[in-house]
Amino acid sequence: MHQNFQTCIAGSLPKPAWLSETNKLWPQWRTQGVELAQAKLDATLMWIKAQEDAGLSIIGDGEQSRQHFVHGFLEQVEGIDFEHKVTVGIRDGRYEAQVPQVKGAVTLRSRVHGIEARFLRAHTKHPIKFTLPGPMTIVDTVADRFYGDREKMAFAFAELLNQEALALQADGIDIIQFDEPAFNVYLKDAANWGVPALERAAQGLTCTTAVHVCYGYGIKANLDWKRTLGDEWRQYEKVFPTLARSRIQQVSLEFYHSHVPPELMTLLQGKEVMVGVIDVASATVETPEEVADTIGRALQFVPKARLYPCSNCGLAPMDRHVALQKLLALAHGAALARGRY
Ligand SMILES: [Zn+2]
Repeated sequence: MHQNFQTCIAGSLPKPAWLSETNKLWPQWRTQGVELAQAKLDATLMWIKAQEDAGLSIIGDGEQSRQHFVHGFLEQVEGIDFEHKVTVGIRDGRYEAQVPQVKGAVTLRSRVHGIEARFLRAHTKHPIKFTLPGPMTIVDTVADRFYGDREKMAFAFAELLNQEALALQADGIDIIQFDEPAFNVYLKDAANWGVPALERAAQGLTCTTAVHVCYGYGIKANLDWKRTLGDEWRQYEKVFPTLARSRIQQVSLEFYHSHVPPELMTLLQGKEVMVGVIDVASATVETPEEVADTIGRALQFVPKARLYPCSNCGLAPMDRHVALQKLLALAHGAALARGRY
């Protein structure tokens, strides 16, 4: 029987101190070569076990094998110059990042995430989710010296994402999620070409498809930005209607401790909704009661069978022990909600 309130996390988890620097969005690896490759898998195994022990329904690799959710994919793309990174303002200038330059037509050099995807499949019997950056967010996290047009470049990346996504499906991944925080920044472009590029990336997939649209990791630049957004965050209103008409089946959104009006979830009719019930910008661990209450608020706008309690965003830059406690809160809160609603 299908259990309601299946739990999962948005994607990333903190890397242990023996794998990389901690509490950083772009951490440096501790080691290299075969030793690094082994350390990545060891960390993946640890987080698979931790997610299962916490009681989560859907398991991910915690993105332990990639330095950053966008650049991890780009490292296997031909046409990109990683040697000469430049500093640019990303997410409409919200914060500065060192990004690689696109110098030619992009093609995939090899499989990107095959090793960790098959490793994940081999080590859990739960349904598994795997994340990829969305085309629009990739475009926003590189410096273009070749295409001269963001939409055109997004479709070029969408083709590569589609190749990798089809291969991930063949590896046994059940849910492929594209991360598109840029949808909340470039509202018009998201509806005009962001969603079509996303659909190109998901073309031909028969596994479950998902998109994650958030207000970013819990880093200072994002917290400062959120303070400028006012009492009602209505960004989702611009992109949800287009997403509702798309073939993408699940939408992951930020909710708990945000100023997102919950009624905006009604714009996602027919979709499964991964509702953010865990705050990734605070080290304070939610109680199961708080999580169940948040699920209750979302239930007014999302039917029970389509509501997936989730984290607001990735937990990568957090303290490892806090993240673990938050996984437990998520699972316990969902269990409480099953009895209550
Ligand atoms: Zn996010």
